[in-house]
Amino acid sequence: MKELMFLNPVLKECIWGGTRLSGFGYRLPSDKTGECWGISAHRNGDCTVASGAYAGMTLSDLFTKHRELFGGIGGEYFPLLVKIIDAKNDLSVQVHPDDEYARIHENGASGKAECWYILDCDEGAAIVLGHRAKDRKEAEEMIREGRFSDFIREIPIQKGDFLMIEPGVIHAIKGGTMLLETQENSDITYRVYDYGRLVNGAPRKLHIEESLAVMKCPCLPDKPDSKTERVGRSEIRHFVSDSHFSTTLYRVDGELAVTNGNPFSAVTVLSGSGAVDGTPVKKGDNFLIPAGYGDFVLSGRMELMLSTVPKEPKVAIQE
Ligand code: ZN
Repeated sequence: MKELMFLNPVLKECIWGGTRLSGFGYRLPSDKTGECWGISAHRNGDCTVASGAYAGMTLSDLFTKHRELFGGIGGEYFPLLVKIIDAKNDLSVQVHPDDEYARIHENGASGKAECWYILDCDEGAAIVLGHRAKDRKEAEEMIREGRFSDFIREIPIQKGDFLMIEPGVIHAIKGGTMLLETQENSDITYRVYDYGRLVNGAPRKLHIEESLAVMKCPCLPDKPDSKTERVGRSEIRHFVSDSHFSTTLYRVDGELAVTNGNPFSAVTVLSGSGAVDGTPVKKGDNFLIPAGYGDFVLSGRMELMLSTVPKEPKVAIQE
């Protein structure tokens, strides 16, 4: 099919959210809007198709009934979830399980690997990535004794950074950061620490046992390498290619021809405007390029993040 499928995003209110997602043209549910689920088939926020032959269908329904649009890939659920996050305040310190742990302990759900592309952050900003305990025993002591400033490892970030968060890696987004997140289609989060915050007068639930069971020890991950290609005035940055997903940033200035053999592509326009084979796109648009679409030409001045999965993605086997 030679047609882009635009999606209606789902906006989420979060205690740590703000108002900056309005800059993408989204209508905000409140002045604490933390997340835009731009490409999602998750039951907690299932996007609908905005136009074309499948207008009005949810992405989960489309994935179930028209697997041919997704290259016939396996799996029960659409494999990705792409979000833009506006963290006005700090998010809780958290960790996600891997596929195996989630399958056994979370009713067959997927685990969660995620990656972040920093869209904007305050001067001198940092994120939490990993921890400083030398082993699980020390991690447990530090957590139970509430020594979080010793436990947590912060690293500096700047606009344009890319970070990979494998399952089992302690992490937190800090206030003043906007980022694009590509992740496995999962909403399972184990919260280790929430800065003692109260929501409606009570602290949010922590998941200390689960966190200790899944967290990597020791855990001091680096920023991953990316590969940059220049084509004319445009730039292509290949970030990550693991068993679950890969992401590529296109900085288009003029025209850029893209060779495409992906089972499908999930695309978010991060800035500017332009066209995909003549179809106009602009900042804040989220769309799918279906299987069989073939090569395409990007034109204009814009930044797009394209997320996809390997041709035969790893699927959690149900026992
Ligand atoms: Zn997370």
